[in-house]
Amino acid sequence: MEKILISACLYGEAVRYDGQHNRLTHRVLQQWKAQDRLIVFCPEVSGGLPTPRPPAEIQPDGQIKDSTGANVTAAFQAGAARALALCQQHQIQLALLKENSPSCGSQFIYNGRFAGIKMPGQGQTTAVLRAHGIRVFSENQIDELAAVLAASDPLQSR
Ligand code: SF4
Repeated sequence: MEKILISACLYGEAVRYDGQHNRLTHRVLQQWKAQDRLIVFCPEVSGGLPTPRPPAEIQPDGQIKDSTGANVTAAFQAGAARALALCQQHQIQLALLKENSPSCGSQFIYNGRFAGIKMPGQGQTTAVLRAHGIRVFSENQIDELAAVLAASDPLQSR
């Protein structure tokens, strides 16, 4: 069965920087849970960062800093590398990751000034996964992801 990597916060785990979650409720997600199709992962926690933690944003120079000014690039890179290793272990080609995150964002991220302003871009983990051919979808594209999965995995329609 084709597995899907999912951001732990979308799955409902309280791993966000502020100690909250972004639990996604969608019919198809319940189906994937029941099929044991989801591999749940948080790159930032896996990279060694605590929860809660200061929010972090990707800077114009590509470094990642948190709101205290600390450089957390290494932790983000470690989390991204572990995400890729997990995908390779499970032969994952599809990921459902949280939009706007400096790790998981796939279409938008914050602009690095901690002013709540988004711009087109992708997070560290998304960039690494995409560089290895893994398709990354946001929670706003779950129907699109379901369509891609249905075309490639007959179990999806059961
Ligand atoms: Fe969610 Fe990804 Fe942030 Fe972890 S790193 S809290 S999975 S958006």
